[in-house]
Amino acid sequence: MATAEKTGSGKACVIIGASHAGVSCAYALRSEGWAGDIVLIDADPELPYHRPPLSKSYLAGAEGRALQPLRSAENYERENIELRLGVRVAAIDRAATELELGGGERLPYDKLVLAVGARALVPPIPGLDAANSVYPLRSAADVEQIRTALADGTKRRVVIIGGGYIGLETAASLTKIGAKVKVIEREERVLARVTTPEMSAFFTELHENNGVEVLTGRSVISFSSDGEVTKVNCTDGSVHPADVVILGVGVRVNTELAEAAGLTVQNGIRVNEFTATNDENIFAIGDCAYHRNPHYDSLVRLESVQNAVDQAKVAAAAVCGREIAYDAIPWFWSDQYDVKLQIVGLSGGYDRAILREEAGDDVKFSIWYFAGQRLLAVDAVNNARAYVIGTKLISSGAVIDQAKLADPETVLKPANILAE
Ligand code: FAD
Repeated sequence: MATAEKTGSGKACVIIGASHAGVSCAYALRSEGWAGDIVLIDADPELPYHRPPLSKSYLAGAEGRALQPLRSAENYERENIELRLGVRVAAIDRAATELELGGGERLPYDKLVLAVGARALVPPIPGLDAANSVYPLRSAADVEQIRTALADGTKRRVVIIGGGYIGLETAASLTKIGAKVKVIEREERVLARVTTPEMSAFFTELHENNGVEVLTGRSVISFSSDGEVTKVNCTDGSVHPADVVILGVGVRVNTELAEAAGLTVQNGIRVNEFTATNDENIFAIGDCAYHRNPHYDSLVRLESVQNAVDQAKVAAAAVCGREIAYDAIPWFWSDQYDVKLQIVGLSGGYDRAILREEAGDDVKFSIWYFAGQRLLAVDAVNNARAYVIGTKLISSGAVIDQAKLADPETVLKPANILAE
């Protein structure tokens, strides 16, 4: 596998976090020719697994449902990547270039990669501490708890707090396995932070057609319980009986280790274009990294597999002494029922959104976000063509004739929508 010039002999690169970013980085290090030790540490005891299926197929899956490992155990061995699972890193001692592990053991590093991600936000809602059957959804263990709670079929009423992607995917998956689901969203519409009112309306209708009750414009103020949660109480006075509650209200970035070690933390761990922190031997990648995206000339922290994997490659190169600036165009996807949403780009700051519906019986449309002449992002529903064309046009910076794009008679092809 490794064809690049060897580097790092006799040294150790330690990676904290063995999820999408950390595992990708370990493999990219070998491809880059890192000949030293690679130690991947994670507090999660499971063999590192794909996280997106947790709210999708893994949650909805019937018999034989299993975590999808990122790599097999043998594969790590073959690449001489040491996995230390079920081990929490307690502190980074930058002066000694050592980590302090949960059990007190100290582990030296030459290069350190923080791929520590984020954890589910647990909001301080009164009654939450006393109520069992209230679960976040971030890890395999969280899903296991949810599945166990719903397993015997007597607990069917699920309230999901938060109408973002994870909340909505969870609603779709649990509906599939027979739960009676309500989604409660504080904003006036679901997905309010990330998409247009048209897209929010589409997903609301999709869920309602599948039997999910979608309640917006109200916040949860407390939980009632008799040990187990019984009711979710909202600001508007509405009360929602519940057997199980799922929290889908966002994340907290795992910045504590970095902060305690004196690294710059600002909406995540601040990194430069090569993923380096303010310590030249420490890098940060994935959900925890606050970085500049050159395409949008803005500082962002992204929660996506694409970002985790692409930044991992940049970090691996940097660890091996090769500086490649990170400049990927972000992309993301979400699966709900039989709908596949693909997103490319960042739509923040758009001043015009063009909705294109394609002819045919199947639901198939896309939303194109512009700032002036500039195409920022495309959301494509069951429309891989729009996603692919959007990706090309965002990368090339081509100017689009917005009138042609908006015309339903225009067949979607780059040649048909480019400005003369
Ligand atoms: P994480 O996956 O958060 O991993 C960080 C790891 O670090 C964790 O395993 C944690 O245990 C470990 N860790 C943290 N601190 C320590 C410590 N002190 N010691 C030891 N270990 C530590 N993205 C998409 O692009 N498409 C999707 O459809 C999609 N669906 C998703 C569905 C769900 C339910 C969730 C939760 C996320 C989804 N995402 C999706 C987001 C995607 O999974 C994340 O962007 C990705 O997992 C980020 O990877 P990461 O390695 O940066 O961080």
